[in-house]
Amino acid sequence: MGMTTSTFPLPSAELQQNPLIAFGRGICAYSEVKPTDIAPAIDFLLERAQHAVDHAVAPATPSNWNDLVEPLEDATESLSRSWGVVSHLNSVADTPELRAAYGEMMPKVTAFFSSLGQNLALYQKFKELSQSPDFSKLHSAQKKVIENSLRDFRLGGAELPDSQKPRFSQIQDEQALLGKAFSDHVLDSTDNFVHLISDKAELAGLPEDAIAAAADLAQQKQLQGWAFSLHFPSYYPVMQYSENRSLRRLMYEAYVTRASELAPQYAQGKLEWDNTQNMLEQLKLRDEEARMLGFKNYAALSLAPKMANSVEEVDTFLTNFAQKSKPFALKDWEELTEFAKSELAIVDGLEPWDIAFASEKLKQERYAFSENELKQYFPLPKVLEGLFGVIQTLFGVKIEKANLPTWHADVQSFEVKNASGNTAAYFYLDPYARSGKRGGAWMDDARGRRELPSGEIQIPVAYLVCNFAAPVKVNGVLRQPTITHDDVITLFHESGHGLHHLLTQVSALGVSGINGVEWDAVELPSQFMENFCWEWEVLEKMTAHAETGKPLPRELYEKILAAKNFQNGYMTLRQVVMSLTDWRLHASFDPESAKGQAVLDLSRSIADQFNVIPQAPISRWINTFSHIFAGGYAAGYYSYKWAEVLSADVYSAFEEAAKLTGSVLDEKTGARYRKEILEVGGSRPAAESFKAFRGREPSIDALLRHGGLVTQ
Ligand code: ZN
Repeated sequence: MGMTTSTFPLPSAELQQNPLIAFGRGICAYSEVKPTDIAPAIDFLLERAQHAVDHAVAPATPSNWNDLVEPLEDATESLSRSWGVVSHLNSVADTPELRAAYGEMMPKVTAFFSSLGQNLALYQKFKELSQSPDFSKLHSAQKKVIENSLRDFRLGGAELPDSQKPRFSQIQDEQALLGKAFSDHVLDSTDNFVHLISDKAELAGLPEDAIAAAADLAQQKQLQGWAFSLHFPSYYPVMQYSENRSLRRLMYEAYVTRASELAPQYAQGKLEWDNTQNMLEQLKLRDEEARMLGFKNYAALSLAPKMANSVEEVDTFLTNFAQKSKPFALKDWEELTEFAKSELAIVDGLEPWDIAFASEKLKQERYAFSENELKQYFPLPKVLEGLFGVIQTLFGVKIEKANLPTWHADVQSFEVKNASGNTAAYFYLDPYARSGKRGGAWMDDARGRRELPSGEIQIPVAYLVCNFAAPVKVNGVLRQPTITHDDVITLFHESGHGLHHLLTQVSALGVSGINGVEWDAVELPSQFMENFCWEWEVLEKMTAHAETGKPLPRELYEKILAAKNFQNGYMTLRQVVMSLTDWRLHASFDPESAKGQAVLDLSRSIADQFNVIPQAPISRWINTFSHIFAGGYAAGYYSYKWAEVLSADVYSAFEEAAKLTGSVLDEKTGARYRKEILEVGGSRPAAESFKAFRGREPSIDALLRHGGLVTQ
């Protein structure tokens, strides 16, 4: 049993001191990691992982969990964990030296993991294990790990006859190149455009910061005046605020013709950046790949590792959704047209370049409240107290400050304790934006729950990273950091992912926490948590004005609640139409016979059927739909709505409980949610977990109700 330690590479005395090796199963001393530590540590761990792979595929190695899976998991986990530290530091504490060291090792690490997926000898060993009498003795999470691996091997082409393998890998390479070219074209045509204004009167309506940014851009380009680009932060304020209708039109027409055959005419673009042919070629390759693997089309292939069951199920889901939201979108549209006519003197009908402008004016008139005033009610420590209160009440845990090693003085660490007082998990919170830190917010896995060969349980650790505005000094005194309500929602969202990772009870690493969860279900726990940010009983306790200490006034709460669903009919329908376009391009489109503008034609026919807003005939938005042509969301864009339906439906169980108990923070429902959704992670299909919690199949009703898309 086990591996012969004699040939197993052991770290030299020097490597044992390397902080990327020294922490072993514990927590890395982040602040001690130097860029020069990276190459020696990762090279050593790669060598050891490769050794474990070679050992696993050796004919003498028996195909059972302890001899095959565990040592492999052990070696690849040490590599992933140390590499995880490096890429985490690269995201939150970047320096030129660190970036260079990261960039140097990245291709080696990527190559190692993709070679695992292509290793046919390993596939053979996993297959033997799945067919051996030992398999039935494994517990269900272990079986799931094996089944997922076999599935991934198959989707990677492992079962293909040798004659087809070269073509299969050629398809992968061509797809990667086309995806890269697609996004380069979008970027080039976005970058190339600049519109210069020299008369200040033409800037009417634009906010000060947008004008300042335009002056900045002009200066960068060594031009006089104000320059606008097609990058969203420059483009969108024009659409939203500019009183200058012809400026809005000019910018709009440039924006929607990027990377198309119309770009030379409207967007100062080049014909070689036209993505029309690129899209057809990608669709063709995807179709070919799917057929090689025995699927009817690419949509069917994409469902293999997802929660949705069939191509028809997704199509019906989206069509039904579109039909349900259409009347509300129509109402939004009529309201906006009416408002534009009476208040904005746009009498000849709303054009596409008027929509954001008119909507912003309507929103201000109806729901005006100051974002800055609202923000004063959310000091970060108070918000954390509120968030932890929700988690502690619902899931029967205690969250206490911990003292783990960190990478920056602003970073805090916490311990999650079970009711019994045992440590269940740890997590980090890195709240503020700073230089050297990547933008956005995310949860990442620092260590997963796993039963070690010794039988001991390794407890999970997570990073919660946000980019809130850092506290500022006023008259030499550090002000209490306050965050916006959107930031609060972000924090709850990431903590939802965090809880999924931290409260798991699964001990097989490949399916513990968020590992192995179908990716159309992975946003369930995160979106679920967002709901609490709109509950009065939560907000009342989570708010304290930075100066007066008073909780959020009920009146202000009513206002943000009313603004929440502003134009939601229209927004929802837009998302659903985009999802349906993605879906049908991969399910019911024949790329073999398609020519010219066939992709555009299909997207247009779907929009004609469902959309309520007339489309500009020149719009080529599909030519910049990077999610599906350059971003890994091909036949997957529906996942956003899919997971929203699940999370709203799960939340409605808490609303039902509140009808009886008076509080959405219902402990019994929380305990069931913890047990059926959070604890099981990826160890069983998400559909089963959902049903175990809700007692029935998912329903779209709660999401429609939350979004104001039901007639009352
Ligand atoms: Zn998320």
